[in-house]
Amino acid sequence: MKRTRILSIDSSNIENHGISEAADIIRHAGTVVFPTETVYGIGASIDSVEGIKGIFKAKGRPTDNPLIVHISSIEMMMTLVADPLSEKVRRLIHTFWPGPLTLILKKSAIVSQDVTANLDTVAIRYPKHPIALALIEKANVPIAAPSANISGRSSSTRFQHAFDDLDGRVDAIIHSEDSEIGLESTVLDVSRDVPVLLRPGFITKEQIEQVIGKVDIPSTSEASSAKPMSPGMKYAHYAPKAPMYLVMGETSGMVERINEEIASCDRNLKIGVLCCDETLDAYRHEATFVQSLGSRFDLSAVASRLFSTLRTFDDFNVDLIFCESFEERGIGVALMNRLVKASGNRIIRVETRTERE
Ligand code: AMP
Ligand code: MG
Repeated sequence: MKRTRILSIDSSNIENHGISEAADIIRHAGTVVFPTETVYGIGASIDSVEGIKGIFKAKGRPTDNPLIVHISSIEMMMTLVADPLSEKVRRLIHTFWPGPLTLILKKSAIVSQDVTANLDTVAIRYPKHPIALALIEKANVPIAAPSANISGRSSSTRFQHAFDDLDGRVDAIIHSEDSEIGLESTVLDVSRDVPVLLRPGFITKEQIEQVIGKVDIPSTSEASSAKPMSPGMKYAHYAPKAPMYLVMGETSGMVERINEEIASCDRNLKIGVLCCDETLDAYRHEATFVQSLGSRFDLSAVASRLFSTLRTFDDFNVDLIFCESFEERGIGVALMNRLVKASGNRIIRVETRTERE
C-alpha cells in the first residue's frame, strides 16, 4: 500500500507547487493521476520502467494492452516516431491538436516495449487540458497514461472516481475539476495507407474524413479476434458491477420493453434503469433506481455524464440494469460504443412497428 499524496490544483491557477511536486514524482519513477479534457489519466515517465510497471500494477491492467503517450509539443512528439510525418498526419495535427485525438504511428527506439506492449507502433496524444500540459512540460518527458480506473471499471471523469479506485495504489492524485468531455479520446491508426478508426470518440469519423479523406473502421470479426489491431478492443470495459442489458430500438418501444422486462423479474431484485430526461417518468413505478443521462437531444451532455452515472449503480448495489440506447450520430457513435462494451454485449433489440407488421 502506497501513501498517496493528494495535490489540489485549480486549472485556472496552475502555478502552484502542486504541479512541481507532481512533476518531481513523475521524474523519479512514480505514478501520478492527473485530469485531462477526456477523462482522468494515471501517468508515468516513458523513460522509467519502474513507473510504467507501476501503472499496470495499480490498475491491474493486462500487460498486452499498450498505453497512450501524452506530449506537450510537436518537438517532443518527433522524438517518439520513426518516420517523418506524412501530409495526412500533418493536417490532422494542425486541425485537431491539442485535443481528444490519439494517433498511432511507427515508433522510434526511445519508446520502450513496456509502453507499447511489444508493438512497433506508439499511440500519441497532445492533450488540451492546462494541468495535463503543465505537468508534461514541467516533467520535461512524455507521459504514458491510460484512464485512471481499476481495469474493467468505468473510466474516471472526476477526482472522486480516481480516488475511490486508486488511493493507496499510486504516488499522487491531482484533485481538480471534472473532465469536460467525459469519454476517452478517438484513436486513429495512421501507420497504414488507409487510416483506421480504432476507437470512436469526441472527434468523429466524419470530422476526420473532412480533413484527410477515407477512413476505415475495423470489422466486427476484427474486434473480436484474438489479436485485434488495437489490443484494448478485446477486453471487457466500463462494466458496472451488476449485469447491464442494453435495449435498442425506437424510444417508445424501448420504454415498453424495459417495463415488460422489469415486470417479469423477481420482485426482490433491485432493478436499475439508465435512461434520458424524456423517459424518466415512465419507469418511476417499476424500477428501484432510475437515472437519467440528460436529454437525448443533447448527446454531448449525455456522453459527459455516462461514466459517473454508471458508477452510481454500483453505489446503490442494484442487481440488474436496463439501459436505453441513443442515436448513433456524432458523439452518439462513441457513446454507443461505450454502452455496448459496458453491457458486455447483452443487447435486446426491439422491433419497430413496421418491422413487426
Ligand atoms: P486507455 O488509455 O485505457 O483509454 O486505452 C488506450 C487504447 O489505445 C487501448 O484500447 C489500446 O489498446 C489502444 N492503443 C494504445 N497503443 C496502441 C497501439 N500502438 N496500437 C493500437 N492500439 C493502441
Ligand atoms: Mg481505459
